[in-house]
Amino acid sequence: MTRTAVLGAGALGLTVAYRLAQRGESVVVLEREPIPGGLAAGFQPEPGIWLEKFYHHLFRGDRHAIGLIDEVGLGEDLVWRRPLTATLRDGRVHQLDSPMSLLRFRPLPMRDRLRMGAALAYLKALPNPELLEGRTATDWIRRRMGRRAYDVVWGPLLGGKFGALAEEIAMPWFWARVHDRTPELGYLRGGFQRLYDRLAERIAGAGGELRFGTEVRGVRTSPIGGVLVDTVAETVQVDRVVSTLAVRLTCRLVPELPADYRARHDWGQAYGAQCLVLSLDRPLTDTYWMNINDPGFPFMALVEHTNYMDRADYNGRNLVYLGNYRPMDDPIMSASTDAVVDGFAPHLARINPGFSRDWITDAWAFAAPFAQPIVTVDYRDHIPPFETPIPNLWVASMFQVYPHDRGQNYSIDLANRLVRRLSR
Ligand SMILES: Cc1cc2nc3c(=O)[nH]c(=O)nc-3n(C[C@H](O)[C@H](O)[C@H](O)COP(=O)(O)OP(=O)(O)OC[C@H]3O[C@@H](n4cnc5c(N)ncnc54)[C@H](O)[C@@H]3O)c2cc1C
Repeated sequence: MTRTAVLGAGALGLTVAYRLAQRGESVVVLEREPIPGGLAAGFQPEPGIWLEKFYHHLFRGDRHAIGLIDEVGLGEDLVWRRPLTATLRDGRVHQLDSPMSLLRFRPLPMRDRLRMGAALAYLKALPNPELLEGRTATDWIRRRMGRRAYDVVWGPLLGGKFGALAEEIAMPWFWARVHDRTPELGYLRGGFQRLYDRLAERIAGAGGELRFGTEVRGVRTSPIGGVLVDTVAETVQVDRVVSTLAVRLTCRLVPELPADYRARHDWGQAYGAQCLVLSLDRPLTDTYWMNINDPGFPFMALVEHTNYMDRADYNGRNLVYLGNYRPMDDPIMSASTDAVVDGFAPHLARINPGFSRDWITDAWAFAAPFAQPIVTVDYRDHIPPFETPIPNLWVASMFQVYPHDRGQNYSIDLANRLVRRLSR
């Protein structure tokens, strides 16, 4: 029987392992962290209550994620709601989540609102982004929506997500952002951690093995055939390895990968994600998602989770994320929770003038590397295939997602496709 080591227990690795275990194959999942879930994993604000470390929801079109949630028996707890999405601009919160709210969007003159609406309708209707290949989002947006719409709405968003590289982002990525989004958002009550715990249980139930707290340090071909995986504690001999880590991390772990493979695929940049989660004794806003488009804020998005899911699910807590994408060596990625609160809290009064620091009852800061691929115009040419030049080493990673923005749905889709490819 083929024995496969799956590196990483995020959405992708767990789905690969689950599918292989369903086929009666032998799997061992090796995960550095103590729990499954990867970037979508949760933490416990208090015992028995789970919340993602980074805000998460699904869109109506996320059929692979929705299908998997149903398949493992959690479909009844996937709830769909239409929470408010807004933009902070000129010190005011403006709803901006529908054609009607765009028509009322005061920071832009009516002519620009109409232009932006027409361009967004075009992107929604365009079935695929082939026509847009080779163009940057900034260039397209400025031409089609106008410079003001770029400066007021899209520039701050692209800058918040991609920093200095915002000008280089591929237009097909922006097409997908507009095309894929739905006003209704889905959330798994009790947290997406339940999905990942359930997958881990199913893998174990089918005879698979999961080793948490197990960092992989290297992968090499074995002189007796198959592949050797070196972890902090031991060397694991398997027939096949599937790495679900960022492609650049896989390249670091596998010195045998040839120079031409590295030249093409050990490529591109990624940002880390950084988030402060606050538990407050009262609501901060009436909005779920707020893009921070005014200058001078140390965070780019404010996501008030309990304006979407019920406070009662969280023992009455008001839970607010303040999020960022940053270069992985940015000092904020390793800052203490207290330091992040000190940096962020004074800015909350610019959003709600009544805010006072004593509303904060708990705070947690999280940071994760390789959380956001920087999808530049030439990104597509550097995406590796599943198969590598090393026999029995396969890569399936959220860094292969294109043109869609990475998300649980796309990792699950990649996992399903990889397993179909393996069994050919
Ligand atoms: C701020 C933020 C918000 C997001 N919002 C949403 C959202 O609303 N909806 C949505 O669907 N998606 C969202 N996502 C994206 C989603 O979290 C990811 O697309 C998805 O979780 C990726 O899963 P993955 O398994 O491909 O990768 P990962 O989750 O990155 O899994 C890789 C795993 O490999 C492990 N690993 C790394 N190195 C090693 C090593 N050397 N040895 C062993 N293990 C290792 C990691 O610990 C990790 O568990 C968001 C992400 C972020 C950062």
